[in-house]
Amino acid sequence: MKRRDFIKGVGAGSVATAGVVGGINTASAAKTIKWKMVTSWPKNFPGLGTGANFLAKTINEMSGGRLKVKVYGANEIVPALEVFDAVSRGTAQMGHSGAYYWKGKHPATQFFTSVPFGLTAQEMNGWLYHGGGMKLWEALYDKFNLIPNAAGNTGVQMGGWFNKEINSVDDLKGLKMRIPGLGGEVLKQAGGTPVTLPGGEIYTSMQSGAIDATEWVGPYNDMAFGLYKVAKFYYHPGWHEPGSTMEAMINKDAFNELPGDLQVIVRAACRVANQDMLADYTAKNNQALQTLIKKHKVEMRQYPDDVIKKLHSLSNDVVAQVGEYDAISKKIHKSFVEFENNVIQWSRVSEQGYMKSRAL
Ligand code: CA
Repeated sequence: MKRRDFIKGVGAGSVATAGVVGGINTASAAKTIKWKMVTSWPKNFPGLGTGANFLAKTINEMSGGRLKVKVYGANEIVPALEVFDAVSRGTAQMGHSGAYYWKGKHPATQFFTSVPFGLTAQEMNGWLYHGGGMKLWEALYDKFNLIPNAAGNTGVQMGGWFNKEINSVDDLKGLKMRIPGLGGEVLKQAGGTPVTLPGGEIYTSMQSGAIDATEWVGPYNDMAFGLYKVAKFYYHPGWHEPGSTMEAMINKDAFNELPGDLQVIVRAACRVANQDMLADYTAKNNQALQTLIKKHKVEMRQYPDDVIKKLHSLSNDVVAQVGEYDAISKKIHKSFVEFENNVIQWSRVSEQGYMKSRAL
């Protein structure tokens, strides 16, 4: 037998074998499973909405069309901040959102989006995938009938939009600001009033004066919402969200009903989407930032060091307090802090050391 024929023969044999194995599951393999993915984002919103679309498309293609996921924007099936409940009860099989929106369900959810002065995107992925984070997230979501997945990361966010300068912590007092999660809790400790609003309501809330200030994501996303039209000063850095993980939650019953290979495909697609969103933000943020500055005449400001120091100290208290909430919060907080204390030592010599060298 010539080599080419031999390979062909093996190929044909493999197909035949797969056919026999597949034969047992012919009915389920041939059946197209249809899932709904509800999201907290306006349909096709750059980065977040397109990230959810990318995840659905990847699942559809990796499964050869056996699992078709259809994406719904905020308010198409449920409002932005009802994604968690909708997937938990099975109205949709999947949801794309941010875990910190569910602090009312359990305060420890906030650890899985971003912790003020906590981990960067790269470090966050280290904790989730190889530092025990995912296991804890799964344990936290289990009683809600949900399976969490990391499915996107924005990288370091911007500090937010203000109509007055922030020269001292006193300037934050009485400020009504859209800032979700632990960052919001820190603002509260600094004397401000945090508000959680879905992205789609930020612009009109700023315009009507219902809120004084807001953060959203970064230049790429903030420009898409036109926030430069309703605020004068754009602050950095996003101390409150240094590397925010977006989530793809899955209804546990729906996931358990999938054949094993589709389960692997769904999880793998989430990992691909997690990586792809960070690349999208990294590639597009600066272009948007330059447009904001040059075309829209946005005034950039950096938080003064003493404001940052005060916010950092308040953050440590807020994070420790959330970590005291119950047994699982304690475990999550302990794991996060231990990982952070370790990874920071490496980041100092690697990322931080290099960034410092590059700037010389
Ligand atoms: Ca944000």
